[in-house]
Amino acid sequence: MIKKQIIGYTLALSLILASLFTAKPVFADISAGKYFNVKYTHTKKTYSKKAIAARYQNTLIKSTMPGFVDSSYSMYSAYYLAKNGKKLGLTYKYNSSTKKITMKRSGKTLVMTLNSKKATLNGKSTTLSKAPIKVYFISKKKNYIMIPGATVAGKLGLKYSWNQRLLSGIFSLPSASTTTATTASKTPTSSAVVAPKTKITASSSNYSIRIKKPSGLSNSSITSEDDYNNKRLQLKIKGDYRTHFTSSSNRTIRNSLSYSVSYQGGYTYINLKTSSIKGFSTTVNSTYIYVTYAAPTSMYQKIIVVDAGHGGTDSGAVGNGLYEKNLTLSIVKQIKYYFDRNANYKVYYTRLTDTYPSLSARYTLANNVGAHRFLSVHINSATASSKGTETLYYSKGGKTGTLTGKGLATIVQSKLQSTTKFTNRGLQDRIPGKNPGGVAVLTYTKMAASLGEVGFITNKTEATYMKNNTAAIGKAFYNGILSSY
Ligand SMILES: [Zn+2]
Repeated sequence: MIKKQIIGYTLALSLILASLFTAKPVFADISAGKYFNVKYTHTKKTYSKKAIAARYQNTLIKSTMPGFVDSSYSMYSAYYLAKNGKKLGLTYKYNSSTKKITMKRSGKTLVMTLNSKKATLNGKSTTLSKAPIKVYFISKKKNYIMIPGATVAGKLGLKYSWNQRLLSGIFSLPSASTTTATTASKTPTSSAVVAPKTKITASSSNYSIRIKKPSGLSNSSITSEDDYNNKRLQLKIKGDYRTHFTSSSNRTIRNSLSYSVSYQGGYTYINLKTSSIKGFSTTVNSTYIYVTYAAPTSMYQKIIVVDAGHGGTDSGAVGNGLYEKNLTLSIVKQIKYYFDRNANYKVYYTRLTDTYPSLSARYTLANNVGAHRFLSVHINSATASSKGTETLYYSKGGKTGTLTGKGLATIVQSKLQSTTKFTNRGLQDRIPGKNPGGVAVLTYTKMAASLGEVGFITNKTEATYMKNNTAAIGKAFYNGILSSY
């Protein structure tokens, strides 16, 4: 539903933007993050554990037995790593009478013993940072051998890093390049979370800031997050390195940015704040962390802004026990799920929580980052018998190259309506000053913009469908954007 809007330039936008977006990335994997109960066979104690996942590069390694953290070591089912992490080339055997666990890879044989840190690698003794354990997965009524992922990967010549956002241990082959501090893979993939590709890469010859790494800090302990809502890049380093990172002798700043260090929950954060929203590239080598920034349009090839309609105190349309603001947010989170797995696009979201960004904050974000597409997600409302899918645009609105708002709306409507299979209400040109009036996010955006009204919240059948099919609707919007290129 679109309310009639009077648009004014109100508050300092930077203030609005800084306060609006507080969302952290939403975790989208099915199993990780959920709690489950395990009983340790050696202590007979039962624990509620938060599930973590194992991934080969960006692909989830399927496992009936979730991983979990035990005294800060990530433990994974050895059986499933070998069985489903095929590309890792691991084999696994367990001898229940000797309690020996044998894992092999590429000419290396690691023999471990349950509940012991002592192991052998190709017959020579070696020490594990954490002993393998046997646990009973209560809901499955089965025992599993759990091995410490990082230490086993290291012994068998694999790379391992931890991704907090995905709650996943990332296993990769030694040849796979992991020069960036983010979890980006060089190859875009359709099935896993990746960071957007950048046109510019931070390096020893091209950086805005160079920060010396503390000795002994592994590259995998450093991750970065584009906290665009706060106009900053946040580097997250496992451990307390406040003294090191606070010392000004450990950094060289070439382009102006504000540098600050904080510490929370076992992590040191380096906050690199810029005067406006920037795109960032981060590279880590054995000595330094390099970060370079540039305007988003200089940094990214394809920039999208996705807007979940309404939010916070503005519930939008209400009907059949549903609020428009919640449905639009659920759909946008699904859109994000797909974009998180596609490195070709940089996507900014006007909101990822139940907050109300002003209309001007929404289109200003799109204009400031130089977005190439703007997509707003809404749900219609009228009478109980009103029905159908429609998409709005503004005929005199912004364009991206030859793509008009109408052009984008045509594609979005087609993808959306063929998914919902609701009555096709077609496109609506929303002209300011005429009835039913303009729509701020279509009137003031400088790029091709469209607004999808998925269906009617006041129609019981459509409301039920929308509530139960946010994933399919999200995918339809995502496909609409992709098809527009
Ligand atoms: Zn609406």
